[in-house]
Amino acid sequence: MSQPIDDEFRPREQLRAQLMARIASDGAMPVSSFMAEALFDPMAGYYATKDPLGADKDFITAPEISQMFGEFIGLWAAECWGQMGAPHPVQLAELGPGTGRMMSDALRAGAAAPGFVEAAQVSLIEASPALKMVQGRTLANAPVQPRWLRLIDEMAEGPSLILSNEFLDCLPIRQAVKVDGVWRERLVGLQPDDQTRFAFVLGGALSEADQALIAPALRHEPDGSLVELRPADAPVVDAIADRFKAAPGYALFIDYGSSMPEAGDTLQAIAKHQKVDPLDDPGGADLTAWVDFQHIAELGLAAGLDVYGPTGQGAFLTGLGIETRAAALARGRSPQDGARLTRQLERLIAPEEMGELFKVIALASKGLPPPPGLDPYNPG
Ligand code: SAH
Repeated sequence: MSQPIDDEFRPREQLRAQLMARIASDGAMPVSSFMAEALFDPMAGYYATKDPLGADKDFITAPEISQMFGEFIGLWAAECWGQMGAPHPVQLAELGPGTGRMMSDALRAGAAAPGFVEAAQVSLIEASPALKMVQGRTLANAPVQPRWLRLIDEMAEGPSLILSNEFLDCLPIRQAVKVDGVWRERLVGLQPDDQTRFAFVLGGALSEADQALIAPALRHEPDGSLVELRPADAPVVDAIADRFKAAPGYALFIDYGSSMPEAGDTLQAIAKHQKVDPLDDPGGADLTAWVDFQHIAELGLAAGLDVYGPTGQGAFLTGLGIETRAAALARGRSPQDGARLTRQLERLIAPEEMGELFKVIALASKGLPPPPGLDPYNPG
């Protein structure tokens, strides 16, 4: 008798077989193609099929750690709205909202600013059908009902506030390795001695156009260096710039990554809170890469926007007053609840936790006042 197959794994086996067939017929593929399929294949992609976020799932993010995170993002947005002249309506959008927790907490806290929530038209820009369902449930009782969009370009015209946490790290990256003085693409192929397993293989030399995607500071790294190209950043920044030139707006990106480009492989896969091999189980693990904040900043400047940050998440939240808020929440609670809040706060702001690795950057229409908690970008 044949072994029963767990239904959850069947589409993943198909995705694996499809990727292998594609490699067999077309040759090894860029890391970005592997990443895009592994995350968003409609049947078996990681985000396409699951709700991976939470303590009992694969990984946990700041909005899931504490309600204070989304609340401060909401207060930040409300303040920016005031700085734009309190337009009515204002488009309030979130890129990659996960469970919807951040938007839910942001709308609750944003209600403290008179008129803000009433002015807000909420859009959730989400690629995953499974997560849209979760977002709908989380926001069922929210003061404003969201619309779901697939792209920034689909947002209604007018003034806008665009928020995101851990969105940029899912954008597919490419990789290149320097061999004998030549940058060659690092591709995903099959292991020579075991055609049932994926492996990194070296492709041809990068074209001149592709070499231009390497951060200038890294182009002269020595042989053996690995660099990452982020072709998906520019379309996001450019779509925001198009909006922000037509009407005022602020966009906030919070993510993990470096403030200066660095050589090295940052592609990582996480399942059940553990790092796993990124090629082992496409669809079964979250695949992300470090954000290059300088890249986002330079794209923003090139597109004619004002840029603020990057600054560490710890400094950003502390500057907005999260410690005072945590103390207020703890007042009158049991010692256990107080300790839990202190622990949440630490996870968000302590330098050895999320406080420094996670960074905050904002893009804004030219000439608007600086957003709260962030200084103008210093290209030096
Ligand atoms: N912001 C949430 C979720 C982070 S996980 C949190 O902090 O908890 C990344 C989210 O981005 C998921 O909702 C994922 O489905 C979405 N996502 C990733 N790439 C996307 C894309 N290109 N377009 C729209 N949504 C995307």
